[in-house]
Amino acid sequence: MTLSNSSLLDRAETLDASDPLRAYRDLFIGVDDPSVSAYLDGNSLGRPTKASAERINSFVTNSWGGRLIRGWDEQWYELPITIGDTLAAVTLGAAAGQTTIGDSTTVLLYKLARGALALRPGRSEIVVDRDNFPTDRYVMESIAEELGLTLRWIDSDRRGGVSVDQLSASVSDQTALVVLSHVSYRSGYLLDAAAIARVTHEVGALLLLDLCHSVGSVPLELDKWGVDLAVGCTYKYLNGGPGSPAFAYVRAEYQRDFVQPIWGWMGRDDSFAMAQGYEPAPGIRRVISGTPPILGMIALQDTLNLIEEVGMGAVRAKSVALTEYALELVRELLVPLDVEIGSPEDAAERGGHIIIDHPRFESVIARLWHKGVIPDFRAPRGLRLGLSPLSTSFREVCVGVGAIRDELAD
Ligand SMILES: *Cc1c(COP(=O)(O)O)cnc(C)c1O
Repeated sequence: MTLSNSSLLDRAETLDASDPLRAYRDLFIGVDDPSVSAYLDGNSLGRPTKASAERINSFVTNSWGGRLIRGWDEQWYELPITIGDTLAAVTLGAAAGQTTIGDSTTVLLYKLARGALALRPGRSEIVVDRDNFPTDRYVMESIAEELGLTLRWIDSDRRGGVSVDQLSASVSDQTALVVLSHVSYRSGYLLDAAAIARVTHEVGALLLLDLCHSVGSVPLELDKWGVDLAVGCTYKYLNGGPGSPAFAYVRAEYQRDFVQPIWGWMGRDDSFAMAQGYEPAPGIRRVISGTPPILGMIALQDTLNLIEEVGMGAVRAKSVALTEYALELVRELLVPLDVEIGSPEDAAERGGHIIIDHPRFESVIARLWHKGVIPDFRAPRGLRLGLSPLSTSFREVCVGVGAIRDELAD
């Protein structure tokens, strides 16, 4: 940034100094790396915590290396469900016994959607929106083809998301399942999950929410809102590491009859009996198929510990402050250069990231990354600024938006 921006930087530093969560940033690896001046993509891949580096090292040495196969009996077999319970309590607003960790979000979308559809036999439609994340759309397309169902597409506002009225107009007594993202991966639109669940239930359908951009960023109350099923990533705001496994939530009242399509030994009742024929395990364990990725699921516990310490309320307050500040800088520095804001301006309708559009963004992204300013490019012309409440500073936001301005002004 140029010298004329020093008053902007002063203000960013004042905001950092009065940030009640400022000390948490130092618990992450890489925040003092001078080659990365603004990491604005913690919603695609969260930074590792220092605690996770220690935990992974100790796991390899002591648990894997020391306990060997005995580790499965001692702890690992239950870990997908015990970590799932912690994740549920700290971030999902969900009681124990409804959440498990394993597979990818893509695979869990398939398993949960198939399980849900089997609970609504005779109905022929799945409602999904055109601006949902690609994997959500593709998985529903494959299921529709497989089962001969119809997809009822909602054309949502790209700067916003699916409204309650739009959903009302799209559901009917033929709707089996509604699949939506709670926070839009592109616009950051935060939908009204309780109202969406109500509209879904009015026609007797089930709601499967994708929480990839919500978990660890916006407070969730799945039990209270009446959400039926949910999936989400752990490598975004939960900092589980690249490809860390996803989580699945199945509301307790459906579990007795819930059968997912990939019948594996680890989800069978009494796995180690190696018995003939598949009998789903009681409870949430039946969502598991094969051996769960233990090494991949341990790091996210460190971020859950931090969130438990500060509470989702404080996380959300910081998140809102960061996106408000980013929008303020965008209006001041970028809107005069023909940048358009592609996210809701009302914080109550927004998750933890914003997106801005400009025809030249595709050509500036490589130069920004080269300079150590790292947002995400989202086709056709969006830069997405992801602001991870525990690890992003106001200074990073200022440096990042300043660098984008410098590129466009060039
Ligand atoms: C990131 C993301 C995914 C990713 O799914 P994977 O199976 O982990 O690749 C899915 N849905 C949404 C909404 C996402 O933002």
